[in-house]
Amino acid sequence: MGKVFVFDHSYCNGCYGCQIACKDEHCGNDWMPYQKPQPELGHFWCKMVEQVHGQVPKVRMDYMPIMCQQCDACPLVEKHPDVVTKRADGLVTIDPVKSEGMKELVDECPYGAVYWNDELNIPQKCDGCAHLVDAGEIPHCVELCATEALKFGDEEEFADEIAKAEVLHPEYGTKPRVYYLNDPKLFIAGSVYDPGPQEEVIIGAKIVLEDASGKVIDETTSDDLGDYWFNKVEPGDYKVTMQAEGFATKTVEVKLDKSLNIGDFALDKA
Ligand code: SF4
Ligand code: SF4
Repeated sequence: MGKVFVFDHSYCNGCYGCQIACKDEHCGNDWMPYQKPQPELGHFWCKMVEQVHGQVPKVRMDYMPIMCQQCDACPLVEKHPDVVTKRADGLVTIDPVKSEGMKELVDECPYGAVYWNDELNIPQKCDGCAHLVDAGEIPHCVELCATEALKFGDEEEFADEIAKAEVLHPEYGTKPRVYYLNDPKLFIAGSVYDPGPQEEVIIGAKIVLEDASGKVIDETTSDDLGDYWFNKVEPGDYKVTMQAEGFATKTVEVKLDKSLNIGDFALDKA
């Protein structure tokens, strides 16, 4: 048992507050014995990653902070037990004095979470603001997250969230302590319109999503713009059928391995 970070995609608005908070806490501040100051440029111990899903005009942005995952099986701890420490509360710290000159630590983290400080000649990374945690406080990135997308606390307190969450790259086998909830998954989006002279959108068309075996996965209707969306779809092969009164039914096959805007479809008059 120990401390964990829990990040919920559905609450994050991409404000970059957590990334800025990390800079605010560590640039120009010496938190020895845990940390020497973070350089103002080039280091993102808490790094916001933006991903664009879909294709214009049907796109969605997704944001998530990536930091040291405070792994229980951190290879740096295993290789350099005198320099990198797994604390009893789960946080992983690099000794800023003993690690001098050890540039190899940067490459030994599979998450790319360790940065090289050229000026001080040391490797550095997020330690969960160990200096604040020791004082009974929470990491500064969590404190400044206004939407509570990023949380920190005892593993027991977050048991329900952890049971539903995912970790980044479980295949690395490092047993991370940062949990990610509500991964937006993939979507299929499209729209329908009447190809008549006005080319008006079709509102309220019935749209059915079936898997390759013909099993209905989801149903929706086109909105006031003729648009429709199927969210949280697993990768695979699908059929999308578009039906509207007075129009011929149209079916398209979709191979889904990334979020897709499958396009605008003209439904011919029946
Ligand atoms: S993210 Fe990298 S440095 Fe941090 S605990 Fe995991 S393996 Fe170690
Ligand atoms: S501070 Fe919170 S809401 Fe803002 S980017 Fe970070 S996790 Fe998202």
